Amino acid sequence: MVDLLPQVLLRWQAVEAAARIHFQRSGFGEIRTPLMEPTDLFCRGIGEATDVVGKEMYTFRDRGDRSCTLRPEGTASVVRAALQHGLLTQGPQKLWYAGPMFRYERPQAGRQRQFHQIGVEWLGASSPRSDVEVIALAWDFLASLGVGGLELQLNSLGSVDDRKAFRTALVGWLEQRVDQLDEDSCARLSTNPLRILDSKNKATQLLLESAPTLTESLSPESRSRFDAVQHGLTTLGIPFRLNHRLVRGLDYYCHTAFEITSDQLGAQATVCGGGRYDGLICQLGGVETPAVGWALGLERLLLVLEEASKAEPTGRASQLTRAPKPDAYLINRGFQAEQAALVLARALRSQGLTVELDSSGAAFGKQFKRADRCGARFALVLGDEEAGRDEVLIKPLLEKGDESTWAIDAISAMVDLLQSR
Ligand code: ATP
Ligand code: MG
Repeated sequence: MVDLLPQVLLRWQAVEAAARIHFQRSGFGEIRTPLMEPTDLFCRGIGEATDVVGKEMYTFRDRGDRSCTLRPEGTASVVRAALQHGLLTQGPQKLWYAGPMFRYERPQAGRQRQFHQIGVEWLGASSPRSDVEVIALAWDFLASLGVGGLELQLNSLGSVDDRKAFRTALVGWLEQRVDQLDEDSCARLSTNPLRILDSKNKATQLLLESAPTLTESLSPESRSRFDAVQHGLTTLGIPFRLNHRLVRGLDYYCHTAFEITSDQLGAQATVCGGGRYDGLICQLGGVETPAVGWALGLERLLLVLEEASKAEPTGRASQLTRAPKPDAYLINRGFQAEQAALVLARALRSQGLTVELDSSGAAFGKQFKRADRCGARFALVLGDEEAGRDEVLIKPLLEKGDESTWAIDAISAMVDLLQSR
């Protein structure tokens, strides 16, 4: 779990602000759910056979002896909230969220125990076009931030029946080759066999090259649905690569599954993952309702943004990650001047200006150096001499121009100058 310091939070908030606008434009409303839920929600909503529930959750008993869990992801909570507040009786719901998630994982670059996700859930949407729209929402958001080197990987898990057929075929095929399977995959053979396709073990990956594929098990209806999704993406000019190994572990996932990866992230390459989960709402006690969504990892996105801004110092990513500069740096020294500086800084800030007030009492030369270093456009200079005359000196630091003297109470005229471009 990491602390977030001011420099990082600047970028963070720029990304969240961009997300907020982006989602609003597509009619998604924000939802915030508690950080903690009854453990049972995640057991039912993510599944006992998954790594997340099996070994990654922060679970404890509260003082009322209830089993509680810090949320490891957002979807189960969003669905719970939608059901609890009867949102689905009002028709389909387009929702987005952002916030911390908790998983007991081995920390490494791009993998933390408290991390942050931004995600969207479209509850009640069934058409292939909604899959396309949701994927485009993720793709365009990342593009709008100036992130390059992304790849969209796409697969179809088919219908529940398609998956059952595939599962049987896969398990049958693998059972004849258990001696070649790694330990983790062997354990998954009975609990969560589709997840074996996701194995990072090299020998298992090689073995899987010749295993039956999901695509072969798709019914004609599922296949034409998958075609429609691909066609939609092509119409929007969004490039993708088919990856028949891309799976989500559980039975309520179906049809579209996708990931967006970056070539900048090494082993933790997935920035965003999502897909269709038509069975989940029913699983959590609602009436059968189709749904599609995704979640992206904010820390990983920030790593990618940092690389993008290094690669292109004047690009969009750089603008996002650049710290804003103060409009003015207020240099002041002497008893009377320091009192007047407090008043002046406050008056200018109340007019919307960003003013850095030097509080060191150091020599003017030192204060000027700091003014230069912080990148302020103007230095305001107040010594006891100026203060005695109720004046302040204004000196441009970045652009050419002469210094000028102003009456200290001519706030609106000063604001005009300091904001002039
Ligand atoms: P991974 O395969 O990397 O473990 P996942 O399949 O567990 O990912 P999801 O549950 O789909 O990930 O979460 C969506 C996104 O959240 C991921 O693509 C990733 O960007 C981010 N994410 C997941 N776990 C972590 C973590 N421990 N630290 C930082 N980001 C994470
Ligand atoms: Mg994981």
